[in-house]
Amino acid sequence: MSQKLTIALTKGRILKETLPLLAAAGIEPTEDISKSRKLVFATNQPDTRLLVLRGSDVPTYVKFGSADVGVSGKDTLLESGNDGLYEPIDLGIARCRLMTAGVKGAETPAGRIRVATKYVNIARRHYAAQGRQVDLIKLYGAMELAPIMSLADEIVDIVDTGNTLKANGLEPRELIADISSRLIVNKASMKMKHQRIQQLIDAVAAAIQ
Ligand code: AMP
Repeated sequence: MSQKLTIALTKGRILKETLPLLAAAGIEPTEDISKSRKLVFATNQPDTRLLVLRGSDVPTYVKFGSADVGVSGKDTLLESGNDGLYEPIDLGIARCRLMTAGVKGAETPAGRIRVATKYVNIARRHYAAQGRQVDLIKLYGAMELAPIMSLADEIVDIVDTGNTLKANGLEPRELIADISSRLIVNKASMKMKHQRIQQLIDAVAAAIQ
């Protein structure tokens, strides 16, 4: 049985924090990922390759088994659902908070409100749990603009330092979830390649400590 391993990583700032964890588990790309436009990278381990993807696509590759393992933000996992996935390790990197936000000092209307976000599933659940009626508006970026331009009363977005909200005249309101990156594993891969993947999980877990 093949014990080849494909690991899906999120490109951008999370990648810089992920690579040292993989290196500690003995897996290093054979070229500088940040200097290449490639999407698939060989590693020092001949049986292991890396895919470098947009964050929201990582769970999809792992769910369908095109990648065995992935590193994905909890925000993405909460939004896309984790059917077919195990989530064995909280990597503790790329920490931030998923929050609601609105114009500083503005009162939220009492009745039905408009909420702009790229996290429509998370937002639907959050407001439903509070029994609040919302119209959801899907955006793909620059959520902070929506309340300023009266497109929405509130947004649901990632907050780290809070500087982006502040710079746009917004204030954080409710905490929805604390976010960090997670190691995810395809359930079938976990069975078929148990030894190889358990080894990786143990090595990454040890590296975090
Ligand atoms: P900040 O101004 O530090 O609150 O950062 C807010 C913006 O940075 C958000 O709108 C996100 O787009 C992005 N951001 C910050 N931290 C993360 C993270 N851990 N994962 C994804 N996006 C993030």
